[in-house]
Amino acid sequence: MSYRITVCIKQVPDTENLTTEAMKADGTVNRSALPAIVNPEDLNALELALSVKDRHGAHVTAITMGPPSAAEALRQALFRGADDAVLLTDRKFAAADTLATSYALSRGIKNLPPPDLVMCGRQAIDGDTAQIGPQLADKLDLPQLTYVEEILELSDRRIKARRAFELGYEIVRSPLPVLLTVTGSANEPRPPSAKRLLASRHLRAPSEKPRDGDAPRSESGAIREWTAADIGCDVARCGGSGSPTKVKKIESVKLVSEDHQRIEPTEEDMAALMQELMREHIIE
Ligand SMILES: Cc1cc2nc3c(=O)[nH]c(=O)nc-3n(C[C@H](O)[C@H](O)[C@H](O)COP(=O)(O)OP(=O)(O)OC[C@H]3O[C@@H](n4cnc5c(N)ncnc54)[C@H](O)[C@@H]3O)c2cc1C
Repeated sequence: MSYRITVCIKQVPDTENLTTEAMKADGTVNRSALPAIVNPEDLNALELALSVKDRHGAHVTAITMGPPSAAEALRQALFRGADDAVLLTDRKFAAADTLATSYALSRGIKNLPPPDLVMCGRQAIDGDTAQIGPQLADKLDLPQLTYVEEILELSDRRIKARRAFELGYEIVRSPLPVLLTVTGSANEPRPPSAKRLLASRHLRAPSEKPRDGDAPRSESGAIREWTAADIGCDVARCGGSGSPTKVKKIESVKLVSEDHQRIEPTEEDMAALMQELMREHIIE
């Protein structure tokens, strides 16, 4: 059996290279001041989808909601093995919180042939909420397996997967179709393939600015582009108008240590530490 898998890919600012211009005065991310990368755990989700494709056969579609420049994240997915890609882009999607983002993504996914598996990264490194996967499952009316590390069994009707949690793991089963959120510990994402990079590097989404050597528009069908109207969105549920959360103020919090105590690995110091932890009711 060949599966249909949709992978949600978010383009994010590279938060490992933060500068003082990283945030705007209104509390939103100043994306133009930071290099853009594919959200790391989305590459883990893509890798999991591609491993299903390698083992069982699958059609893998990458989807993103973002400005025209987010098409670069889709190209990165195509270079690694995705079969096609969809860019949801429209000014009406701008300033979306998680509710409005998951709404637009759900409309986009409903506009594709019904998937057997929808995969998301566990969490984005900029918004950091880990809400999109669960919200999307709700809007698509799918069961969800979060924190997935490995698919142990897959058939046309069921999936058995290992999900990680703080102190161990859990083996869970679900009927298909299902939504998975995938953790960074799941796998080692494959690098772009040189052959696919050469074949797809000139592909552009229709609203991207053309560059020298670009494929003619008619050949760039691997990156489709849809607006809010194309996917039947209720505009009141999109972007800023569909976002009940508002950023009031952001603060940079610096943790400064005022005091410290050195504990040597001796019987005496360890006993004193245990006494103190018990006195403070940190351990009983
Ligand atoms: C009040 C408010 C205003 C905001 N305004 C803006 C703004 O003006 N501009 C702006 O850029 N951001 C804005 N954001 C951030 C934006 O809402 C989030 O980046 C977005 O909703 C996704 O949430 P997250 O980053 O926490 O994703 P998470 O829930 O942590 O992401 C989990 C997974 O969901 C998938 N995913 C998440 N987002 C996308 C996407 N866009 N496309 C495809 N897959 C995705 C990925 O697989 C990802 O790994 C705002 C947020 C709030 C709360």
